[in-house]
Amino acid sequence: MTKKAAVVGAGVGGLSTAARLSSRGCEVDVFEKLPECGGRNHMLEDKGFKFDMGPSFVLMPDFFEEVFSYCGVDLKYYLKLQALDPSYKIFYPDGDSLTVYKDSEKTKEELERIEKGSSLGFDKFIKETTRLYNTVRPLLYRCFTPSTVSNPKYWPLVSKIRILDSYWSLAKKFFKSEKLCYAFTFEAMFMGVSPFEAPAFYSIISYTDHVQKIFHPMGGMYQIPLALERLSKSRGARFHYDSEVKSIGRDNGSIYLDVNGRRQSFDNVVVNADYSYAQTELLGRKIPKYKYSCSVYLLYLGLKRKVEGLAHHNLFFAKDLKKNLKDIFKDRNLPLDPSFYIHVPTVTDSSLAPDGKDIFYILVPVPNLENSNDDFRNHEDLIRKIVFDKIDSLLGIDLEELIEVEHKFYPKDFIGRYNIKYGATFGLSHNLMQSAFFRPANFDRKIKGLYFAGASVQPGGGLPVVIASSRIAADLITA
Ligand SMILES: Cc1cc2nc3c(=O)[nH]c(=O)nc-3n(C[C@H](O)[C@H](O)[C@H](O)COP(=O)(O)OP(=O)(O)OC[C@H]3O[C@@H](n4cnc5c(N)ncnc54)[C@H](O)[C@@H]3O)c2cc1C
Repeated sequence: MTKKAAVVGAGVGGLSTAARLSSRGCEVDVFEKLPECGGRNHMLEDKGFKFDMGPSFVLMPDFFEEVFSYCGVDLKYYLKLQALDPSYKIFYPDGDSLTVYKDSEKTKEELERIEKGSSLGFDKFIKETTRLYNTVRPLLYRCFTPSTVSNPKYWPLVSKIRILDSYWSLAKKFFKSEKLCYAFTFEAMFMGVSPFEAPAFYSIISYTDHVQKIFHPMGGMYQIPLALERLSKSRGARFHYDSEVKSIGRDNGSIYLDVNGRRQSFDNVVVNADYSYAQTELLGRKIPKYKYSCSVYLLYLGLKRKVEGLAHHNLFFAKDLKKNLKDIFKDRNLPLDPSFYIHVPTVTDSSLAPDGKDIFYILVPVPNLENSNDDFRNHEDLIRKIVFDKIDSLLGIDLEELIEVEHKFYPKDFIGRYNIKYGATFGLSHNLMQSAFFRPANFDRKIKGLYFAGASVQPGGGLPVVIASSRIAADLITA
């Protein structure tokens, strides 16, 4: 008999789940509170500028290819992934910079300029992170429970994946200068966690940056959810937008959803909406005291003309990065000397702005809203001035006079738009006790047939990994 499945949320996790389940013969209905798909991977259009509002790095392209091949098609008929060169540029507060190229030999010349002998450290770092990647990758398609820890088969993993080292302490073994340690650990911030807290095995992100390279989907990041939606629809999935699920419960052997004033029953439900929100608001449960990722303040600028000196991806480090991380993750202060990131997708993809114009997407990590109601709206002028002054001093660009179009996104918008607990942009934190076995599982222990796919469950956040979570959920249903 055909299984009736519902997916709650049309983020990349929900869309990939819908594509997989409908390809495996399930009858699939997707309910999404917003009027369109994509979730955090959304696009905003204004006066010919197309701003990708969330993710900007495509890493681990094989994870994207996998979901299409699972459904019997080739990704290349849906998305054109372009490898970036340079991959990214780092701007240090003292005026120095580091360009990371597609060609590692060129990157090594840059590293040597900053720290003599560091190209050797780079080779050793890549060797170690390659080993970690090969160990971790197969685990990303499996759902673990804390009881897995008691299985002796998994004990060797403790040393194999360096469970007791942090991302930072791993980098420290290969590079002497703080500048390079930051350059090989900043990726942790993109999971919303400090590199001092992230376990060393997350250095597989550095491996993917340098070995597998970084990609951009032509037409913008929003092409990813659109492609997955098209794929799901071609397999028969039905999409219901403006349809916020209000509650989920057990109903005589099936699972019900209350949505649009109606109660509907399904054999299986996969929740893609934020895990903590779903547990408390949709299932009415108490949850453990989890740790949450940081939030971000986002500024999307359409510029009157093109500017020089920036790559597609640009990272600006604070003078005192340790203090900056402490402000965000421990003290919950407004960072007065923040690290930030600028995405200039128009370097690669001219289709995203009118001719001769650039997009600047500026992301500033800030504390989340746990125990706080202050989402920095009132300090916005200050943050903006600090960031603009830094851009001016390092690049000689007076941003204020170049702005044609401007949009913003605050920590509270993550709650209002996406239902993300505490506006924690990247969901549950990726510290050791919330990684691997210890991250919430993809199935529900109390309600048979209820599953989870998305950033806050196993294996974790970030597009490729969220796509892997959809495979775990779909396999548990169809196996
Ligand atoms: C600013 C930013 C930058 C990022 N940068 C990167 C990057 O460069 N590379 C990368 O790989 N990842 C990046 N990420 C992380 C990545 O975007 C996320 O991990 C991923 O998009 C999460 O997908 P998801 O499907 O789990 O959740 P979401 O995208 O949040 O989707 C969940 C969906 O559920 C819907 N929903 C919520 N409640 C309900 C309800 N009650 N009923 C119906 N629908 C509901 C929401 O509206 C949403 O559409 C970034 C994220 C952000 C925000």
